[in-house]
Amino acid sequence: MLKTVNTIKEARSIINEWKNKGLTVGFVPTMGFLHEGHISLIKKAKEQNDKVVVSIFVNPMQFSPNEDLEKYPRDFEADTKICEKNNVDMIFYPSCEEMYPDGFCSFVDMTGPSKELCGKSRPIHFRGVCTVVNKLFNIVMPDRAYFGQKDAQQLSVIKRMVKDLNMPIEIVGCPIIRESDGLAKSSRNKYLSESERKAALILSQTVFMGQKAVENGERDAKTLCDIMKRNIETEPMAKIDYVEAVDFDTVQKIDTLKGTVLVAIAVYIGNTRLIDNFIYTV
Ligand code: AMP
Repeated sequence: MLKTVNTIKEARSIINEWKNKGLTVGFVPTMGFLHEGHISLIKKAKEQNDKVVVSIFVNPMQFSPNEDLEKYPRDFEADTKICEKNNVDMIFYPSCEEMYPDGFCSFVDMTGPSKELCGKSRPIHFRGVCTVVNKLFNIVMPDRAYFGQKDAQQLSVIKRMVKDLNMPIEIVGCPIIRESDGLAKSSRNKYLSESERKAALILSQTVFMGQKAVENGERDAKTLCDIMKRNIETEPMAKIDYVEAVDFDTVQKIDTLKGTVLVAIAVYIGNTRLIDNFIYTV
């Protein structure tokens, strides 16, 4: 039976009962407005654990003042139905006051991986992500936590944090779920007008094209990124934030593709900033 829990105290008490019975806990952190991407994480967690906790928390700390915190889409009722249908055991749905009470002043910050790609245009983003994920891990104490490759840099950053800070949690990365025409599913797709929605296809098209070039043997990062940039520039509504090839583990720029490579793009379609990527092991 699905239970919605708003307080840290109650979440801890229920999860402790599970742990005392020897049950394993899978955790899917989200900002809500759930779609097939989130559902794929929930399904994976269900497969691998006795109990599944989904958190829904639009974390103010990871948004800069000029970003979309206020208008970020929310639909708790629909989210609850999705969780019910997918046999989630607990939704952890705390208020901002519960997560960040007066006087809150401790943060998890990271150098290296969190300073590249999205870290450049969103300088405080990963400090907010690492801090909230760390707090959520301390509350839920999961055996495994599930993150989408859709946010590949986030996945890499969280893996690094767990390793560096010796958290006894397995991080499970899950593939990108796409619309039938290729667009990566995202809560932010809701912002797109009809014409922007069409223009947004340039992201997945470019990712598929880049992936094909790498599969066909392209190993020079600059050549690859230039081809991809030129493709994005054919779409008049698109404005490039970045197109980069980095090492997946360190998120540092590379000249030549080798090892496990993350090729990531961020593109504005109108006012909406969208991301997409592919990971390739040479
Ligand atoms: P969000 O609610 O956008 O913060 O996302 C919560 C989790 O769902 C993150 O681990 C995301 O990477 C993952 N996610 C979001 N969209 C997708 C998608 N299209 N495919 C796979 N995972 C996704």
